[in-house]
Amino acid sequence: MTQNKYNDSHYDIIVIGAGISGLLSALALSKEGKKVLILEKDSKVGGVCRSYEVDDYRVDTGPHAITRLDSGPLRELMDKYFDVVPQFVPFGKYYVRASNRLEPFPWSLKDWLTFDIIPKKDRLLLMKSLFDMFYRLSMGKDLSAVSIADVLPSEISSTTRRFWDYLSYFMLGTSMKSAPVSRFIDNKCHKQDDKPSSIPYAGKIYNLLISEGATDHKYPKGGIQSITNCILSSFPKNRVEIKTNEQVTDLQTSDTNEITIKGVSTEENNYSCDIVVYSGFASDLPNLISGLPEDYARNLMQIKKVNSLTIWLGLTKQFFSNHGCEMWVDSDPYIWAVPTSNYDPGLAPAGKQLVGFATVLPEKYDPAEARKKALNAIIQTIPEIESHIDMIHYQELIPEKAAWSLDSSFGDVKTPIKNLYTVGTDAEKRSMGITRAAYSVLRCLRIMRSERVL
Ligand SMILES: Cc1cc2nc3c(=O)[nH]c(=O)nc-3n(C[C@H](O)[C@H](O)[C@H](O)COP(=O)(O)OP(=O)(O)OC[C@H]3O[C@@H](n4cnc5c(N)ncnc54)[C@H](O)[C@@H]3O)c2cc1C
Repeated sequence: MTQNKYNDSHYDIIVIGAGISGLLSALALSKEGKKVLILEKDSKVGGVCRSYEVDDYRVDTGPHAITRLDSGPLRELMDKYFDVVPQFVPFGKYYVRASNRLEPFPWSLKDWLTFDIIPKKDRLLLMKSLFDMFYRLSMGKDLSAVSIADVLPSEISSTTRRFWDYLSYFMLGTSMKSAPVSRFIDNKCHKQDDKPSSIPYAGKIYNLLISEGATDHKYPKGGIQSITNCILSSFPKNRVEIKTNEQVTDLQTSDTNEITIKGVSTEENNYSCDIVVYSGFASDLPNLISGLPEDYARNLMQIKKVNSLTIWLGLTKQFFSNHGCEMWVDSDPYIWAVPTSNYDPGLAPAGKQLVGFATVLPEKYDPAEARKKALNAIIQTIPEIESHIDMIHYQELIPEKAAWSLDSSFGDVKTPIKNLYTVGTDAEKRSMGITRAAYSVLRCLRIMRSERVL
């Protein structure tokens, strides 16, 4: 324990980290009547849900599509706790760019049959594999340890292979060799109970046949900072305190027969509280608290983060005219190109276009090399872009604190320490990004209710 004085105030709840999951937790808990302190190590709140100015452009911390906005977890939290809600713009189509073509992403089997980017022979083989998988599921087979690479027919073309590898990185932050096939049949239903909902497999097939695409994906006007701003504006008066530039270094516990949270320490202060909601990296927890069961700590240390590089380009010409984004399957590295100024022209100076090009980075990388390679990939794909660059800005960020991968572990909202909960993208194995963070917050609230601390 550090030797500093205890801060006079006692808090019902201390939230560690002011990213979207910490802020959503603080909002919900304060609206439920709790006195909350948020401690954030950075000088700004928002974590990887922020926007800021670069020259005359407003960039986000990585390009974002906010998913499941019709009835998903963020919608549920917004309906219940937000006083002000962001203004969302439809995200539009996802286009696939490969083999010198640009085609809308095939969301349904009907679209898949005419998706020419992939050879017809491969499409038929893949459909056969898909139905075979549903059959195995309906027979009660557990596919949780089966990877995408395991179920791809060996005779498919390299473009088809790259397409699935791209989707594995895009949806799980990992290559198709360690991407569990079960993630691709995760359905969209959002239920209140603790477990992901499961509908009969016939229902899943039906969903595939009739899916209309990403109709509930949206982008917040003003940039993703507007989600963070709406949460901050919705905090009830005098019930939430935020301290930035305060990194939590220790979690304090009492020595009764059950290890129970009693406060937290930062370099500057000690704070006492009844409950801690931790939203930093779960893999850091073993360094912050003593007395964690060995198995639990070992599991947390095996979580693999997802690393990303985004190159934001301000362009003097409108290269991206479609309302939507592009998935570049042929480029090395794979690229997700999102022209955010198409959703909100106010993000770029008049007549210019702002585009975020996001890539997934390996576990270890040389930042200078990674930047050069990604920029080359953009220019190789659309050579004309090079002479129209007005602004360039690089971001190396962690979009997901845990890859959803067969060879790494995952955290959980519930911990072995009484009154300690974790939230964020390494605490809940559902969906991705902000939606996943929101799922973790809802589950945290449900567990707190069931444990009668809320
Ligand atoms: C390139 C890119 C593209 C993305 N695309 C999408 C998308 O399309 N759709 C989508 O939904 N999401 C997307 N995301 C992901 C989404 O932004 C994140 O998953 C989400 O914002 C994570 O929120 P979080 O609260 O879990 O974590 P974070 O934002 O990482 O917040 C954690 C906070 O805790 C603080 N902290 C950590 N340890 C301590 C400590 N010891 N003491 C005090 N403070 C601490 C950190 O400083 C940070 O502020 C994308 C992200 C990137 C980078």
